[in-house]
Amino acid sequence: MAETVYISLGSNMGDREKNLTAALVSLEAIPGLEIIATSGIYISEAQDMDADSPDFMNQVVMADFSFLPAELLDSLERIETKMGRTDKGQHKPRVIDLDILLFGDQIIETDRLSIPHRKMLSRPFVLVPLLQINPELVHPVLEEPIADHLTDKDSEKAILFKDHVARSI
Ligand code: ADP
Ligand code: MG
Repeated sequence: MAETVYISLGSNMGDREKNLTAALVSLEAIPGLEIIATSGIYISEAQDMDADSPDFMNQVVMADFSFLPAELLDSLERIETKMGRTDKGQHKPRVIDLDILLFGDQIIETDRLSIPHRKMLSRPFVLVPLLQINPELVHPVLEEPIADHLTDKDSEKAILFKDHVARSI
C-alpha cells in the first residue's frame, strides 16, 4: 500500500530555480513514486550553515510512494549525486538537498534515516511550504498540529518567490 510522503527540496548554489525544476523532473521518474502536489518556491536566508552562505530556494513535494523509506532515500541520494552534489554532511552551499520530511505516520530511527525529519520543526523554510500544501498535518511523534510550531514571525523568514508552480499531477 502506498504511503503519502513529503519531500523537501533545497538549493543555494548555481541556478537555484533550475536546480529545483531538474530535481522535480527526476523525482517524477522515481519508481513507485507519484507526485500529488508541489508547493511554491520560497527564498530564505541560509540557516545552520557556514557564514556568508547564499540564500536558499526551497520547495516541498507531496507524493504517494509504494516502497520502503530506505528505498526512497536511495533514490533521493542518487538524484543528489547525479546533480553534482559532493558535500554530504557539510554545512556548505549545495546544488540540491533532498530530505524526507514525513513518510505517512511512520516513525523511523535508523543509522541513515530519522523520520519525521529531526530538524523540520525549527526550519521555517520547510514548514512554510509544507503547510502550504497541507495545513492540517499532524506530527506523528508529538501528535499535535505541525502548524502550531510555526509562529507568524518565523513564517516571514520564508518569502514566496513563485507560486504558480503549485499543481496536482
Ligand atoms: P542535511 O540534509 O541535514 O543538511 P545532508 O543532506 O548532508 O544534511 O544529510 C546528512 C545525512 O542525513 C544523510 O547521510 C542521511 O542518511 C541522513 N538523514 C537522516 N534522516 C534523513 C531524512 N529524513 N531525509 C534525508 N536524509 C536523512
Ligand atoms: Mg539532506
